[in-house]
Amino acid sequence: MLVLVTNDDGVHSPGIVALAESLASLGRVVIVAPDRERSAAGHSLTLHHPLRAEQIREDVFAVDGTPTDCVNLGIHGLLERRPDLVVSGINRGGNLGDDITYSGTVAAAMEATLMGVPAFAVSLEARSFLPEQFTPAADYALALARRIAAEGMPPDTFLNVNVPESSPLGVRLTRQGKRRYGDVVVEKVDPRGRKYYWIGVGELGFVESPGTDFHAVHNGFISVTPLHLDLTNYRSFDTLRAWNLEGEGGDPA
Ligand code: MN
Repeated sequence: MLVLVTNDDGVHSPGIVALAESLASLGRVVIVAPDRERSAAGHSLTLHHPLRAEQIREDVFAVDGTPTDCVNLGIHGLLERRPDLVVSGINRGGNLGDDITYSGTVAAAMEATLMGVPAFAVSLEARSFLPEQFTPAADYALALARRIAAEGMPPDTFLNVNVPESSPLGVRLTRQGKRRYGDVVVEKVDPRGRKYYWIGVGELGFVESPGTDFHAVHNGFISVTPLHLDLTNYRSFDTLRAWNLEGEGGDPA
């Protein structure tokens, strides 16, 4: 089995090291990861400058781009053949609820899915990130990878896995939860008297709803959320049909 491993915390992050070591029993693992932290890069692709991939060890490449660039470059350039699986992580911090839309970790799995390669993202929801704390997430990633190898992934699906801080109580199949976004931009003044801003400061809550990724992880369970790339909101069709958008705005011949 050929596994491509990436992340958004950078090629030197302890999470990716733990993940690659754990998956090594599956076959060959090639790391293609950003050369520095690119958390919250989302699904961004570098189109306006060239990318460099530096081989830093056998089967380890550091790319001066985003996690999405890494998957793209790995599949189309650096690997001799298509990988059987792409795994992204282990991220320092959970990727839960609405936050996944910002996540570079999740976007890497998304990119692999667009290319028809089975993929999952794995994140550790914790307050500290000592190397040994990644072990339960690394162990579960291996178990899940074995399962995907045996069963195959459902069509157009990738998995978002979040692992709690202490020993997991079990696994829950979950849906994406909802963030409670607050007043999170802090405005300050720099020594030259100009304003500056910090986004995302402070603790944010989640809507406490059973069955969600957030609820599972915060009750000590590993959360596995199946995601897909179709963002269509099917429930809105009835409401929007009543707007008669299709009956207006054109120039019927
Ligand atoms: Mn990250």
